[in-house]
Amino acid sequence: MKYGRVKNYYNGEFVDSSSANDLDVISPIDGNLLSVVPMSSAEELDSAVKSAKNASAAWAGAPIKERVQVFFRYRYLLERNLDELTALVSEENGKTWDEAKAEVEKSIELTEFACSMPQLVSGEILEVSKGVECRTEHFPLGVVASIVPFNFPLMVPNWTMPNALVLGNTMIMKPSELVPLSCQRMAELLKEAGLPDGVFNIINGGREIVEAICDHPDIEAVSFVGSTHVAKLVYQRSTNALKRCVALGGAKNHLFVLPDANPTMTATNVTASMTGCAGQRCMAASAMLAVGDVDPIIDQICDEARKVVPGKNLGAVISRAAKERIEGYITEAEKSGAKVLVDGRGATVDGKEGGTYVGPTVIDHVTPEMSVATEEIFGPVISIIRTGTLDEALKIENANPYGNAASVFTQSGGAARYVMEHASAGMIGVNIGVPVPREPFSFGGWNDSRFGANDITGKSSIEFWTKLKKTTTKWNPEAGVNWMS
Ligand code: NAD
Repeated sequence: MKYGRVKNYYNGEFVDSSSANDLDVISPIDGNLLSVVPMSSAEELDSAVKSAKNASAAWAGAPIKERVQVFFRYRYLLERNLDELTALVSEENGKTWDEAKAEVEKSIELTEFACSMPQLVSGEILEVSKGVECRTEHFPLGVVASIVPFNFPLMVPNWTMPNALVLGNTMIMKPSELVPLSCQRMAELLKEAGLPDGVFNIINGGREIVEAICDHPDIEAVSFVGSTHVAKLVYQRSTNALKRCVALGGAKNHLFVLPDANPTMTATNVTASMTGCAGQRCMAASAMLAVGDVDPIIDQICDEARKVVPGKNLGAVISRAAKERIEGYITEAEKSGAKVLVDGRGATVDGKEGGTYVGPTVIDHVTPEMSVATEEIFGPVISIIRTGTLDEALKIENANPYGNAASVFTQSGGAARYVMEHASAGMIGVNIGVPVPREPFSFGGWNDSRFGANDITGKSSIEFWTKLKKTTTKWNPEAGVNWMS
């Protein structure tokens, strides 16, 4: 085992869990055992919440310009440790070096946004009648929680942690039990950056801890990122306990490809979107709506896909179970009459026989009711559905329950505008395969891809992580009182 047993982190210290129940942490790259992670108890969560609660008053009481100094240093430490963090993300998640490096770089960008927070939360003040002023201020909520998925072990924790903490909250982080190592390193870097003990805490575990977080009376807000099934459970349970919650769920992202699209640009973007991070991105292209005759573009997508090679420029999928699930979808589509143009089943990498790889897969002549057309596959697979018109394609996209992203490939501004207006998704791309809004724009889908009122990053997250105080003051010496004062 390369690393020791994963520890919890509270009061600024790493603590061995008392749980007797550990899960293996396995590298998808080669199947080697990296570590074991404890399934902590609700009592251990309670200790972490106490730590966060004790740290709350001093941290919230510090001016934001003081709090943000920690994050300038944290940003520097992310950059200084870029190679080491890249290696760790790649090792525990299975990403290629370039993908893991991009994840660290994105974490830096997220931290930079948090560092700009003092400029964004200065509040408002207005003289509303003679000598009477109204002002607004953003106040932290207190102890908040962040529950994160396996597919971005460092970036998704950095979607929530820097913003929530700069805004004066203290946090309990619940890493994915499949990839708990990057969060440990994050805690070390925050300590090195000078974050006071107790402001950031980690509790490892699975379902039991997530449920205990939703129920805990001293946790004010819960953010969740993961599958739709669990997002719904977390949203329902934590709002039932009268907490604020934003829960991001799964996705089935549609790409509209029109005959006038630039073939090379479309083929490279579609392929990069479906195969990047082995298709394990909530923004990955999953269904392609081929509007009219786009056969030459499909041929080019197949050529591009064949250049994506497992173990070289394609990483591993997270587990053996994930590989079996993805390959099962391909087989089912084939049995239902779809045509597998590029087949990634049975992929292996020499010298890494214990790794869990699926090659790029292009499935054509998929019909809208097939499972590869309706369900999230979360692997490097694209399902091509042929349609006669753009309206027909939009009808298919609108009917799917998710709503994270949709993209259109065309040279027609009018057609692009039509998709921007009518696609039922929170994030739209025009000639972009992965339309992630970058800071300061916020990230969040629609429909079953997000529950709750706010997005999770960017300016929208300010409303989620704070409560507004509205103060009215009168310094007008006149004694008279009117209906407004
Ligand atoms: P997951 O839902 O299985 O797990 C997410 C978190 O929930 C983990 O911390 C896990 O320990 C916990 N969990 C799992 N089962 C639970 C249960 N029954 N009760 C309570 N907690 C439970 O998701 P995953 O497999 O880690 O991540 C992949 C999913 O996340 C995909 O569906 C992907 O689309 C989604 N995702 C969405 C976004 C987004 O922005 N919408 C971003 C990243 C990932």
